[in-house]
Amino acid sequence: MAGFNWFWKALSGKQGRNQKRSVGLVARAAELESQVQALSDAGLADFTRQHATDAPELLAALREVSQRTLSMRPFDVQLQGALALMEGDVVQMATGEGKTLSGALAAAGFALRGHRVHSVTVNDYLAGRDAQWMQPLFGFLGLSVAAISPQEGPGERRKAYAADIVYAAVNELGFDVLRDRCAPTVEDRVQSPADVAIIDEADSVLVDEALVPLVLAGNEPGTAPTGQITDVVRRLQLGDDYTVDEGRRNVFLTDTGAARVERLLGIGSLYDAEHVGTTLVQVNVALHAHELLQRDVDYIVRDGKVQLIDASKGRVAELQRWPDGLQAAVEAKEGLQVSEGGRILDSMTIQQLVGRYDITCGMTGTATSAGDQFREFYGLHVSVIEPNVPCIRDDEPDRIYATTDDAFAALVDEVVELNGTGRPILVGTRDVAESERLADALVLRGIESSVLNAKNDELEAQVIANAGDIGRVTVSTQMAGRGTDIRLGGADESNRDAVVERGGLCVIGLGKHRTDRLDNQLRGRAGRQGDPGSSVFFVSLDDPVISEGAAGETLSVLPEEDGRVRDKRAYQFIDRAQRVTEATMLSIHATTWKYNKLIGDQREILDERREKLLTTNAAWEELSKLASARAKEVESAVGRDVAEDAAREIMLSHLDRGWSDHLADLDDLRESIHLRALAKESPIDEFHRAAIGAFKNLVNNAVTESVQTFQEVEIDGEGAHLEDTGLARPSSTWTYMVNDNPLSNGGGSVVGSIAAMFR
Ligand code: ADP
Ligand code: MG
Repeated sequence: MAGFNWFWKALSGKQGRNQKRSVGLVARAAELESQVQALSDAGLADFTRQHATDAPELLAALREVSQRTLSMRPFDVQLQGALALMEGDVVQMATGEGKTLSGALAAAGFALRGHRVHSVTVNDYLAGRDAQWMQPLFGFLGLSVAAISPQEGPGERRKAYAADIVYAAVNELGFDVLRDRCAPTVEDRVQSPADVAIIDEADSVLVDEALVPLVLAGNEPGTAPTGQITDVVRRLQLGDDYTVDEGRRNVFLTDTGAARVERLLGIGSLYDAEHVGTTLVQVNVALHAHELLQRDVDYIVRDGKVQLIDASKGRVAELQRWPDGLQAAVEAKEGLQVSEGGRILDSMTIQQLVGRYDITCGMTGTATSAGDQFREFYGLHVSVIEPNVPCIRDDEPDRIYATTDDAFAALVDEVVELNGTGRPILVGTRDVAESERLADALVLRGIESSVLNAKNDELEAQVIANAGDIGRVTVSTQMAGRGTDIRLGGADESNRDAVVERGGLCVIGLGKHRTDRLDNQLRGRAGRQGDPGSSVFFVSLDDPVISEGAAGETLSVLPEEDGRVRDKRAYQFIDRAQRVTEATMLSIHATTWKYNKLIGDQREILDERREKLLTTNAAWEELSKLASARAKEVESAVGRDVAEDAAREIMLSHLDRGWSDHLADLDDLRESIHLRALAKESPIDEFHRAAIGAFKNLVNNAVTESVQTFQEVEIDGEGAHLEDTGLARPSSTWTYMVNDNPLSNGGGSVVGSIAAMFR
């Protein structure tokens, strides 16, 4: 490998971000094209490896490798994108510009320079697709590539993670980190260390999903409401027995309701010590499930299971669960088999996951509007890459209506009219129920549509691939089908000319998102690679996103007969409300980030200790110092090897249990501090003080408890019998994402408010 890497040094400075410079480097790569074209396959692979650190040579070689292996000759802009990725930037390239290939070129570049790369995708389907698609390119260079699939067991995962380039969905990566962090032995771990993350759809992962906690839980029976409680709750009346707050985030049992529950259950006061922490909690949870979580909006029932819908995407969130009792309560409500309760063993936000890599970069169609967040939370710079062919999409001004019903009716009329011309239409809605309501309304007008939502996500990619065909109407929830190209005239482009003639794909949004970045993501589905196309949003003044941002302020306007509002002030009103909503999310993000940062730092300290216990004989050495008589006894009874393993297992178990308890305590602490926040100047400072205090004792306590366990537990030829102490590892673990994302719409917040009750 050439040691002469002044290019990369120069590039890592501010100047390197200069567009002109990267354009210059790509131009030099173009000059080298005929030279690399003349090389044999083996010669080209060699040349690429030898020039891994020389930008123009590397780019020229990778372009030729791509041409030979994938029959795609990367456009100049794709080389610019790859270059910016290798510099560690977030690259903005529009939809359809070929980010997958740019990302793969960068991955190859990193891997040839000795890094292990994780190519992070938003879902498992895309991880599998991209790894398979790009495999010939990597293989040509002697690089191995693998994808992580959720169906795989530890053995297959371990093998996959050993590859030079690993494609994986962000949550799978996180779950494997969590499981590895709790592994009882080194051999149980599946991940090989990786130092580079290339994140596709970077804004979605790094901003929208950044605060979503990934959770590892283990079985521990007990917290779920009983069938009897579910039945009792079913009989309660809204208004008399319980009330719901305005934001539909909380339910409250009234005195009448409490009395009725007590009578039906045949118990004394729910508020007695005996019931407060148990029955009352279960009743509240069952009420939440009953009243606030709506089937087909917050979850669906499929194959006898409750599957959460990710509110920010409107799709089934695989592997997600609500906090234990709530999950069980919803299962009970739907008459399904109730799953076991559990204990949270460890958790981590996506932001913390991303922080583990030395180099992070990524690509998205909408980076600039998240530029502040990228800089503030990740220290990442945004590089804007011009489109290969200029975008000619016509983004129409919003069509504003007084009420949601007016907007809905007008949107249906618009679809009917456009569909009459044969133009393909993609309608973006914000939740599953809305998408179905729209599809039903269209059927009444004689229009068949394909609905992309949580119920058919296996088919999502195929359906969206054909959404650009003549006469198609596709109704999609937010971000469904992201990552799949919409070609005009169908996946095979056979009707392309006819669709182009009619104006290309028309994207219609029903209601605004919480940030115009997400609106723009939707718009971006039309007008790829210079295609004709248009976009328009149907918005209403009473939309929740708007009224939330307007915070009580109203606009007195005179709508036309069909509810349309053409007043100039309405446009300003909506823009401002959306900006306020986004600003609120940002400040929540900043605060949550500060809370999480501390917990992440503590975990890092703990990991050092854990690593030492796991990989050395520290546990045995410490225990034989602190309990020398017992150590001698154990050693002579079972031999040194078994004794050392037993010591390690005991100490790890106490450390892991201590962390699990610590997480639960921090959650309670955060909740109680929120309650006191009004009176306090800086709740975060207070949280920090208390959290640091609690953490200080964790490691020491784990040692003290380990000594005690070591003294008492039975240790024989099979090791320590921890199952007798309640300390044993859970016999099963599962992972989920807490849908507690303050940046997402709707249902998530319900779960957020209840999560604390359960830990
Ligand atoms: P993005 O992620 O930027 O939206 P994709 O990576 O999904 O785009 O690529 C969109 C389409 O463009 C793919 O179907 C791919 O085959 C095609 N494509 C990408 N780069 C090239 C290229 N250099 N030459 C020809 N086709 C390309
Ligand atoms: Mg893509």
